[in-house]
Amino acid sequence: LMFGKAKSSNFSPIPERGQPECNVVVLGVMGSGKSALTVKFLTKRFISEYDPHLEDTYSSEEIVDQQPVIVKVMDTADQDGPVNCERYLSWASAYLVVYSIDSRQSFEGCQQYLEAVTAHTRALQTHSPIILLGNKLDMERYRQVSKMDGSALASRFDCLFFEVSACLDFLSIQRVFHEAVRESRRE
Ligand code: GDP
Ligand code: MG
Repeated sequence: LMFGKAKSSNFSPIPERGQPECNVVVLGVMGSGKSALTVKFLTKRFISEYDPHLEDTYSSEEIVDQQPVIVKVMDTADQDGPVNCERYLSWASAYLVVYSIDSRQSFEGCQQYLEAVTAHTRALQTHSPIILLGNKLDMERYRQVSKMDGSALASRFDCLFFEVSACLDFLSIQRVFHEAVRESRRE
């Protein structure tokens, strides 16, 4: 959040000490809960109304397995699926692909993201981790996507898979982001 300020003054910033970073991009169709999940991770709070067109990158100092890491989270806001996705695909070191368990349409939509990410990592021959996330687990009564469908899709694209809710406990959301860090360290 301090980026860009150095330019407007003559102050040359002291280079940061080499803190390891992990860039997590959050992808999925509009309404799946990307912003709610991002905000929950960063603030421990559920924000129910968030500008659907706002795309931003946030930063948080985390400790994962006793090791410090700066986790940068890009909360994307695509309006027509993964077009112009190169900017975030090449930035990311881990991918969080979100759908909502109460929306079949969001589940179909997230597959385009899995395909775009896979095509990208395959072309670069990298193995950045992908996590498939079924959100809105609190909406169990309105479920349209079974847990089995979610895990089948995850294994088809070789991703980890979790079901969570941005409005329930913080720790299960934190766990997902920390798992992304853990996996990207391993690659
Ligand atoms: P985005 O477009 O993917 O960023 O989605 P938002 O984070 O803006 O969320 C879309 C809508 O779903 C908002 O009305 C949120 O309040 C709601 N929402 C997000 N996550 C959850 C969740 O886990 N459970 C429920 N019940 N609603 C959620
Ligand atoms: Mg959003």
